[in-house]
Formats: sequence, structure tokens, C-alpha cells
Amino acid sequence: MPADSHSSVLAGLERIVGSGHVITDADTRRGYEIDWTARFQGSTPAVVRPATVAEVAAIVELCRLERVAIVPQGGNTGLVGGGVPLAGEIVVSLGRMTAIDDVDVAARQLTVQAGATLAAVRAAATAAGLTYPVDLGARDTATIGGNIATNAGGINLIRHGGTREQVVGIEAVLGNGQIVRRMSGLVKDNTGYHLPSLLCGSEGTLAIVTAARLRLTTRYDHRVTALLAFATVEAAVAAVARLRTAIDTLEAAELVLDAGVRLVCAAFDRRPPFARPHPVYVLVEAADVTDPTAALSGAVAALDGVEDAAVADDESRRTQLWRYREEHTLAIGTLGQPHKLDVTIPQHQLAAFMRDIPTRVSRYAPDASTWLFGHVGDGNIHVNVTGVEPDDDGIDEVVLGHVAEIGGSISAEHGIGTAKKRWLHLNRSHAEIEAMRAIKRALDPDGILNPNVLLP
Ligand SMILES: Cc1cc2nc3c(=O)[nH]c(=O)nc-3n(C[C@H](O)[C@H](O)[C@H](O)COP(=O)(O)OP(=O)(O)OC[C@H]3O[C@@H](n4cnc5c(N)ncnc54)[C@H](O)[C@@H]3O)c2cc1C
Repeated sequence: MPADSHSSVLAGLERIVGSGHVITDADTRRGYEIDWTARFQGSTPAVVRPATVAEVAAIVELCRLERVAIVPQGGNTGLVGGGVPLAGEIVVSLGRMTAIDDVDVAARQLTVQAGATLAAVRAAATAAGLTYPVDLGARDTATIGGNIATNAGGINLIRHGGTREQVVGIEAVLGNGQIVRRMSGLVKDNTGYHLPSLLCGSEGTLAIVTAARLRLTTRYDHRVTALLAFATVEAAVAAVARLRTAIDTLEAAELVLDAGVRLVCAAFDRRPPFARPHPVYVLVEAADVTDPTAALSGAVAALDGVEDAAVADDESRRTQLWRYREEHTLAIGTLGQPHKLDVTIPQHQLAAFMRDIPTRVSRYAPDASTWLFGHVGDGNIHVNVTGVEPDDDGIDEVVLGHVAEIGGSISAEHGIGTAKKRWLHLNRSHAEIEAMRAIKRALDPDGILNPNVLLP
């Protein structure tokens, strides 16, 4: 941005939100300029923190006039470099828009501003006797706006669906500066294109989400978690399929490997889960209005191939079991900046993929380590590769190319961001990409919203 335009934009932003909410100080900006993995780092002239939808609209209008690009940012826990200003964009942080009002128990919905964290929304729903069913490891920092923009999946998707399934209304400022607001929460409303669905997964390229109306579900106060050990991924995948058929209270099925569990134990000084190690573990959780322990235990007893099992129905032991899964991301981070490739594999290919991919990675980068874990119930595997330079995306090509070859998705739940836009063509046809471009042009005619994300 040229210096004269720079100062007129900053003055304009200060008029809209007040000078205290336009951050230009380098130290304070830094946290907004680098992503959670530290792989993506950029810079911004300013971080602007609006408090209302009207302020967001005024910011978009100003940036349109001045031809300045914007990166919307929530909790900055995204893993594909989509929420940081890699090309000098203004950052619009939703961090002041955190109100949660109107938990409507009869409609089983709540209204929330986009900057509220996922944890705050889940707590509000729980306090009202219901549940917001999307959950993920970054819950304390990730925001509802970010969840919507990335169409976050998470650990309960096999039972409740992902974020898109929960969004029944949306308020957003389009790239053309217009405010769209459809927050009545009518679940039957076939009156044309469904903008909430369109904005789910749009990664800040079409609109800045300012508020949402979310579907809530039954609060299951009884939970049981089991860690099951297997000799092979095949046995683990077959067991999860059988469990899903045997009990309809299954909320989560997370797969981890022995190497990852060892890494977690070493990084955080945890005891191993069993007296002797096993190649593969699956963490399953069932939840119900009455105690599901007997049903889960019975279903587990009927499974083939379970070499060891630990069952926990009290909060503290359940938390201990979950740590073996949830601490993977942090433990891998202790080894340096990983390449994080979040993919979906067809169920019948899962075991072969998990066997093959470390070999393919080693062929490309003999010193690299491949860490595999994920939401096995929906085929979503997180492929993390350490020991490769952060900007060496040949490794991404190896993994994503193979995923596409076997009919998988190159982005299961994290989005395309800047990290994967080069490979969008692996999953999307020319016609689909052109349709996406047409939608982008219609809603963001000046191309100011996240111009370096999603579309190649
Ligand atoms: C430890 C850990 C565990 C995770 N587990 C999961 C998981 O299980 N499942 C999963 O799906 N993801 C997971 N993630 C990824 C991440 O938490 C999600 O992508 C989350 O939805 C991002 O929310 P955020 O508020 O941090 O968004 P940000 O990181 O701030 O932004 C992400 C993208 O959304 C856009 N954006 C943000 N807010 C808005 C808005 N209000 N309007 C328009 N665009 C916006 C940004 O421009 C960017 O493109 C995990 C991340 C970490 C660090």
C-alpha cells in the first residue's frame, strides 16, 4: 500500500472503530501476523477490531474504495495459512464481537456473534440444558466465525455432522459491502439459495461472518470413553464400523498410532496407556441421557481383534484417555514446524493409505518423519510430516497427489487456505473452479476479501 493511501486508510479505520481499536504497534500486531503452526508469517499495516456489524460493513466499504485487501481473523487457530496477512492485507479481527444472546430452549437454537469462542458457545448451550455438538481441540481459542469460515468438523462429526449442519442462520458483510442477515432460525425455509451453507467453508473469501444462529442438540450427561488397542489398522477400522452399527450413541472414534502415543508420553511426561505397547489405538466415546457404559462395554466385548482396552466413565480418567489423542498436535509441534495435511480417505483404502504414505514420504525426504492420526469414523486422517523445510511443498505434492489418486479429499476439515490452493484442481474440476470464481466475483466484485486464499 502506498504511504499516502496507507495513512488515509488508517485514519478512516480509526474514524469507524475508534483509535484504540486500530492496532499498528509492531509488538501487538505480531500475534495476528503469524499462524498457530508458525509456518505462515506475514505482515499487516493494521489490525482493526470492530464491535458491530455496522462497523464491519463500514470497514469493508472503506477498503473497497481504497482498494485495500482484508484478511478476516477469529482465533487464529486455522492450520492452512488462511487467516494471516501474507500479502500486507488489513486484518479484521472479530475478537470484540463475542456476545451470546438468546439461548432459545424451545427452538433448540442460540444466537452468537462471530468472535465468541467455540468453548463459550458450548458452555452457554450446556448451561441451558442443551449441547452445541461441534467440538475440537482448539475449542478455547477458535471462534464460531472461524468454525463457519472453515466448516470445522471435529471429534463429534460422526454423530452430529460438522459446522455446516448446525448453522441455521447467518449475518455477514459481503465483499460488496452489503449486510445479509437471515437469523429467524426457521429450519424449513426453501426460499432460494441457502447463504449460510454457501458461507460455511468459504474461508473469508466471500463475506465476513458477524453472527450466526446455531442448532443445539440434546445434552447427554452420561459419557463413557474407551481406549482400544489393535494389532493393525485393518482391525481398528473394522472394529469402528461394527461399533457404529452396534450402538447409536457413539460420538467419537479417533485413531492414533503407537509412535504418536510414545511422542505424547515423552513430550508431556505421561504414562503409557497399557503395560505393553500396541501398534494401533482407537479412542471411542459414547454419550447418552442414561449411562451408556454397559452398552459400549457389551459392544466392545463382541469385537474381534481388541488386544487391550481401558474404559473410563469418570471425568478425570476420561480426560487422561483423551490426552493421548488431543496432545498429538502439540507434541508434534515440539519437533519443529510440521507440514500438516488433513485429508479424507475412502474407508476401504484407509489401512493401505496408512501403510503406504510413510514410505512415499521417506522416498521423497529420507530424514522426514510421518505422524498419522485422526477421526477414523469419517476417514479423516491428519498427515503431519516433520523434518522437512517449511517451504518445501514437494512433500505436500507427494501426499496430496496420492490422496487424490485413491479418491480422497485433499482437505477434510481445515480448508484450502493458502497452503493447498495450488492443488485445488486435484479435487475440483475446471467447471467447478470456474463456478467458484463466478460466485467470488458476484459477492466480492473488487476481490478484496482474502484474495490469496482458496482459489488458485
Ligand atoms: C490444536 C488444534 C486442534 C484442531 N482441531 C480441529 C478439528 O478437530 N477439526 C477442525 O475442523 N479444525 C481443527 N483445527 C483447526 C482450527 O481450529 C479450525 O479451522 C477453526 O475453525 C478455526 O477457527 P479460528 O477462529 O481460529 O479461525 P482463524 O484461524 O482465525 O481463521 C481461519 C479461516 O477462517 C477465516 N475467518 C475467520 N473468522 C472469520 C469470520 N468471522 N468471517 C469470515 N472468515 C473468517 C480466516 O480468514 C481464515 O481463512 C484445530 C486447530 C488446532 C490448533
